[in-house]
Amino acid sequence: MTSDHTQNWRPATQLVRGGLNRSSHGETCEALYLTSGFVYESAGSAEARFKGEEDGFVYSRYGNPTVEMFQDRLKALEGAEACFATSSGMAAVHAALASQLKAGDRLVASRALFGSCHQIVTNILPRFGIETVLVDGTDLDQWRDALKHGAACIFLETPSNPTLEIIDLPAVIKLAHEAGARVVVDNVFSTPLLQQPIQLGADVSVYSGTKHIDGQGRCLGGAILCSRDFHDDVLLPYVRHTGPALSPYNAWTLLKGLETLDLRVGRQCQSALRIAQFLESHPAITRVLYPGLESHPQHALAKTQMRDFGTVVSFEVAGGKLPAFALLDNLRIVDISNNLGDSKSLITHPATTTHRAMPEEDREKLGITEGFARISAGLEDVEDLLEDLNQALDTALQTGTVKAA
Ligand SMILES: *Cc1c(COP(=O)(O)O)cnc(C)c1O
Repeated sequence: MTSDHTQNWRPATQLVRGGLNRSSHGETCEALYLTSGFVYESAGSAEARFKGEEDGFVYSRYGNPTVEMFQDRLKALEGAEACFATSSGMAAVHAALASQLKAGDRLVASRALFGSCHQIVTNILPRFGIETVLVDGTDLDQWRDALKHGAACIFLETPSNPTLEIIDLPAVIKLAHEAGARVVVDNVFSTPLLQQPIQLGADVSVYSGTKHIDGQGRCLGGAILCSRDFHDDVLLPYVRHTGPALSPYNAWTLLKGLETLDLRVGRQCQSALRIAQFLESHPAITRVLYPGLESHPQHALAKTQMRDFGTVVSFEVAGGKLPAFALLDNLRIVDISNNLGDSKSLITHPATTTHRAMPEEDREKLGITEGFARISAGLEDVEDLLEDLNQALDTALQTGTVKAA
């Protein structure tokens, strides 16, 4: 088999076979190399490997055969030149930004970000002298204005967590490159199957493996996809010494997760659309956000850059926090949890959990109100999920805690 041949595989084939590197035992399943270090034939060989003159592993903080299979599979899936796997999605976001920024640099980011991404951009990086400018990511004029003064880098999520804003990737990437800025995209909500930022011109695409890639609630992980030059010259010198490496055991779990990603995400997208349609017709719900709904402000744009509309639906319950909590508390199948992309359907109240640390002013600008909830569609039968949502909304209505809109 030539590498050219494997490069032509379609995504569902890459998910199962991409990066597979069998040992001399010919095992069916990817081998788990649970080792921190590696031994050398001779002192000279150790010297040559440290110099990069001899191929081979050195230390699992730098690389490991199981982790490498995971990296190679993701690379093949997205058509990226290089990948570095990390211990969590946040380690990936942090390393992708911190490895390239220095004091005095400007970072322009969309405001609609996951809580921890918002913290890195607005609190942690500024401590090191990096200036951050937040823009409404859906407004190209705001990107243009912010980039007038130049920037080292831009950072964005699309769809964003949890408001499901869609950002015009080709247009924003063009503006950033004209201003000399690198583009880092947090692609967690799309997964590498629904949208491929690198193919659209982004410099770096970042994943949380914890979400859909594992998708079964087992482990944390993350990944940074980029060009060979960025990987070798910018990222590796940073991550080798700061140590956000993925454990081989988690890499093995994530490899198993990738094998079923296409099946799971396909099913979850279908269920998410059904849930969004159901909620849109329910009187206790004032607003539903799902890129697959015609009512979504960027539905047309989502159709041009995504293969499907994602596995998460956000909505607002009439009457604020009390009725929203009553809904969550009355669900019998859907669990209250801040994770997403899981085989189990999960619901969360962002204003009091994932986005609690975000200043109220920013939450208001994004529309993360007290009645706002985010549901991640799992793999249960969608009819059971709809019945569960229906009875929880009814119970909440009957107990008088939800006022019909
Ligand atoms: C969950 C999430 C992350 C962080 O991933 P972890 O694996 O939990 O560290 C980053 N970005 C987005 C959009 C997320 O939803």
